Amino acid sequence: MARITLRQLLDHAADRGYAVPAFNISNMEQGLAIMAAADACNAPVILQASRGARAYAGDRVLARLIEGLTEMYPHIPVCMHLDHGNTLSTCVTAIQNGFTSVMMDGSLLEDGQTPADYAYNADVTRRVVEVAHAAGVSVEGEIGVLGSLETGMGDQEDGHGATGKLAEHQLLTDPDDAARFVADTGVDALAIAMGTSHGAYKFSRKPDGSVLAMHVIEEIHSRMPNTHLVMHGSSSVPEDLQNIINSYGGDIKPTWGVPVEEIQRGIRSGVRKVNIDTDNRLAMTAAIRKSLTEHPAEFDPRRYLKQAMVMMQDVCRQRFDAFGASGNAERMMPIPLEKMAKRY
Ligand SMILES: [Zn+2]
Repeated sequence: MARITLRQLLDHAADRGYAVPAFNISNMEQGLAIMAAADACNAPVILQASRGARAYAGDRVLARLIEGLTEMYPHIPVCMHLDHGNTLSTCVTAIQNGFTSVMMDGSLLEDGQTPADYAYNADVTRRVVEVAHAAGVSVEGEIGVLGSLETGMGDQEDGHGATGKLAEHQLLTDPDDAARFVADTGVDALAIAMGTSHGAYKFSRKPDGSVLAMHVIEEIHSRMPNTHLVMHGSSSVPEDLQNIINSYGGDIKPTWGVPVEEIQRGIRSGVRKVNIDTDNRLAMTAAIRKSLTEHPAEFDPRRYLKQAMVMMQDVCRQRFDAFGASGNAERMMPIPLEKMAKRY
């Protein structure tokens, strides 16, 4: 079965009212943990790699890693997605390496830091859509700039993200702009800004509507019920993982993520892809810190990496279940890229 496009996967999710978690991947252990969880839940999955991940592992290693993972679990549909592409060429080289979906983030200029205007975003995204669709590959676009409504600051992770202070109209996607953008570009999925940001430090308290603007999702969905929406920066930053890290020598300051029940509220309003990286990073770090502290004489990396995979797998399973993706793997038959290309 193996690789599936984002378009086909999210169409299925929309039909059945669930969302697919998109887990970031940059090494083998993360890949093994995510796929073991997908297998246990019988869930389709989105593996996504950022430019930082591609630079870390190298495109050749990453491409073959994905190949190995899909062969290991032939019954699990896997969408291989580029997270936050910044240029046409970043997207094209991802496609050459077997990605079935790319994100063109034209909300920022090529430097990945400076907010772009509407014309730039629509133009570069439309050009990516033209090339990707010709190959049957799906495209996610973004309108609005990710950042915190508490501080007005953009977020920086892996060198990507707005660096300066942002105005509220940039931080909250305007439903009119969203509708115009989808019509102008033809994207298959749309990332929007509504107060989430990347990394562990999203909110200084449990978020309410003033800092996590779920109503923006609801407004956009009622305006465009057939557009698949994407929530970025949607780790929940579980307190138990923070506590494990801190009790074994770590120093995570008190922080809050996006509560799972808020994501479920989004899923009821057209959210079909939910990006999660931080929770898995926290899980691996918690397990490694605990294992190294409890077994100070141990020096075989497999010992603590195995624990890291177990804890990460647990987080992934919880998300598959909470988003309703569990049980859906066997319900779809991936359509080949050539056939997807003819649909556009
Ligand atoms: Zn993101």
